[in-house]
Amino acid sequence: MELHLSAPSRFFPVFSVPGLSFNLSKPRSLCIGSCSCFSRGQSLIPKPQLNPKTITPVPDPREEEVEEEDGDEGFQEAAASQGICGQIEKLVFFKRYKEALELFEILQLRGGRGGVGASTYDSLVTACIGLSYSGFLDEGIEIFESMSRDSKMKPRAMHYACMIELLGREGLLDEALELIRDAPFSPTTNMWAALLTACRIHKNLELGKFAAEKLFGMEPEKLSNYIVLLNIYNSCGRAADGAKVLEALKKKGLRLLPACTWIEVKKQPHRFIFGDKSHPESIKIYERLDNLIKEMVKQGYAPMEKHLLPDVGQHEQRMLNYHSEKLAVAYGLISTQDYTPLHLVQGHRICSDCHSAIKLITVITKREIVVRDASRFHHFKHGSCSCGDYW
Ligand SMILES: [Zn+2]
Ligand SMILES: [Zn+2]
Repeated sequence: MELHLSAPSRFFPVFSVPGLSFNLSKPRSLCIGSCSCFSRGQSLIPKPQLNPKTITPVPDPREEEVEEEDGDEGFQEAAASQGICGQIEKLVFFKRYKEALELFEILQLRGGRGGVGASTYDSLVTACIGLSYSGFLDEGIEIFESMSRDSKMKPRAMHYACMIELLGREGLLDEALELIRDAPFSPTTNMWAALLTACRIHKNLELGKFAAEKLFGMEPEKLSNYIVLLNIYNSCGRAADGAKVLEALKKKGLRLLPACTWIEVKKQPHRFIFGDKSHPESIKIYERLDNLIKEMVKQGYAPMEKHLLPDVGQHEQRMLNYHSEKLAVAYGLISTQDYTPLHLVQGHRICSDCHSAIKLITVITKREIVVRDASRFHHFKHGSCSCGDYW
């Protein structure tokens, strides 16, 4: 199924899909009005897409088997029957977030938003998170409010957590807290954790302590909550308070483990810890990494000791160049062909220095590198990361 931009209208392009035809020339009246949660005082009128374009069809990842069995024709029929909502979900699956939001905008303008189901809303919220570093907060708010307003669906905890992340990225911490307080159910750990992360990014110590206390009560054994609070103290120059958090950790019998990263090469997992020299190809790995760091320095790289997340011990912080993720990347580079993407997994959050270094490595080596850490997926490509430097 293809979706074509077929009208030459300068401001209100007309889209058509088989069996459907609609355009954006309808009066735009999508201001969502007032919501106590969002006090930015602005209307949330979606931005029109002004440039003519074609949205090409996307395969449905859930229908790969159908495609194999029935061929293109069967697939096309199945895809067509799913309609706009199915297209939105598929676009989001393939990370074509802007196109997904454009389709939702079209759906709203033609009055079809009442039929949007929970899975489509999940996809739309994902799209907004994916685009949030590019200023898509307003679209996220519109989608969030549209759930109960148009589809009579109650936003679930995951939708609240996503909204808190969106608000947090913009530094709207009070609004994020208000959203938590206004939730018609007990706030979940994900909601408080999203607020805590926002407090770390924006160095809001008081609110960060508040969110951390909530999490300590709900998840007393979860190390990462203490670590984030510790990092907030350290980034605010409150090392003495940070030391108290470490003391509390010790009393609970929790301790920082050596950070560890896995990379799969030729279907074999390879494990690295910081400063690791146990790998059979250790000499080559360190040679590649040292050369890489020289190239990075030429391009302006400088180690970021002061901005490390203290997910790792002090000794590990001193061995910045040889963090487990850098060693894993170096091994991936020497053991795979040029341009092969690298996939890493680790249980700790990536530190700021490794995050910056890997962005630069994707430029130098022209590789894509995906790191799944304790916080999220980081998809590094062309010198930037999908997280928008927010994790
Ligand atoms: Zn690191
Ligand atoms: Zn990232």
